[in-house]
Amino acid sequence: MAKRDYYEVLGVSKSASADEIKKAYRKIAIKFHPDKNPDDPTAEDKFKEAAEAYEILSDQEKRGRYDQYGHQGVNGGGGYGHMNMEDIFSQFGDIFGNGSGSPFDSFFGGGGGGGRRVRKGTNLRIKLKLDLEEIANGVEKKIKVKRYVACNTCGGNGAKNGTALQTCSGCQGTGQVKKVVNTMLGQMVSTSTCPVCDGEGKKVSQNCEVCQGEGRKLKEEVIAINVPAGVGDGMQLSMSGKGNVPQRGGIAGDLLIQIEEEAHPLLKREGNNVVFEQYISFVDAVLGANIEVPTIEGKVKIKIDPGTQGGKILRLRGKGIKDINGYGKGDQLIHINVWTPKNVSSDERQILEKLRSSDNFVPNPGKNEKGFFEKMKEYFQ
Ligand SMILES: [Zn+2]
Ligand SMILES: [Zn+2]
Repeated sequence: MAKRDYYEVLGVSKSASADEIKKAYRKIAIKFHPDKNPDDPTAEDKFKEAAEAYEILSDQEKRGRYDQYGHQGVNGGGGYGHMNMEDIFSQFGDIFGNGSGSPFDSFFGGGGGGGRRVRKGTNLRIKLKLDLEEIANGVEKKIKVKRYVACNTCGGNGAKNGTALQTCSGCQGTGQVKKVVNTMLGQMVSTSTCPVCDGEGKKVSQNCEVCQGEGRKLKEEVIAINVPAGVGDGMQLSMSGKGNVPQRGGIAGDLLIQIEEEAHPLLKREGNNVVFEQYISFVDAVLGANIEVPTIEGKVKIKIDPGTQGGKILRLRGKGIKDINGYGKGDQLIHINVWTPKNVSSDERQILEKLRSSDNFVPNPGKNEKGFFEKMKEYFQ
């Protein structure tokens, strides 16, 4: 799915000031807030899209990268939104201020008002094993997940046939009960969560028979996870809205995907580069040879030049792993090791003894032979 331009999302020009961006975002956030648009399923997407655009454009460094490289520069090429509702709500602190009277008090219960917060379900956590081939270029993985989804018999509110909920008689809908307690200092009023409705302010009069009033059901779903290229072991991806739906309505939690990288039998990953240890015979090192080496994309033929020293590093450009932030691709480095035979026959020994005193076999390193540390500097910086 193609992402819209962040400036277009907020309806501002590329040269918009920080203040203009803030104002534009505030307008959109109020208009599309999911609480205000319970019947419009696209509102939440628009709301999240705007929040993501604001997150990037309100940060000078991220905005700079976005201007230069586009979505690739700030999202690592992942095709889905990375912000969850909690992230978005936490943005509001600086955009609307925490003082009372902000337009969001009524939605979030800020400033001590009686309103209730949007409820969010729990997150689901899974582990995802990937091999080097899948990591190198990104992959779409389909996995089975058991998650709570809204009950479609009652529409998620838990009431029989989806009938309207009734205001809780225990708290008159506030979700809180006040108790007057006598203390040494006189009477004090304490507030606590209403035990009748568990703070929800509403009550189901007759439970939905399918979900027993929970408003949700466990369901096995196949979810397609779009893994961007270049992820690493222990990295966490998040898909917002693919976690559990809370009881009796609200926003689904997120699906958190922890990456486990499987070791490749032959290739070793070093950042975005891939390293292969190649052993060649002493004869091939002297006379040169054509050999095949494994890469992520299959076997590749390479040439060993005559007179190759052990420790040489050959580079196959672009045969490594794509950068997670979209900055190109790593290389494959081939570390040449010259194999020294451990046993020789008496015939071989005779030949070698003849060569021992030959001038060409006396080590004579010139200026072109780079030492170990120079090579390290050159290739691994
Ligand atoms: Zn139900
Ligand atoms: Zn109540």
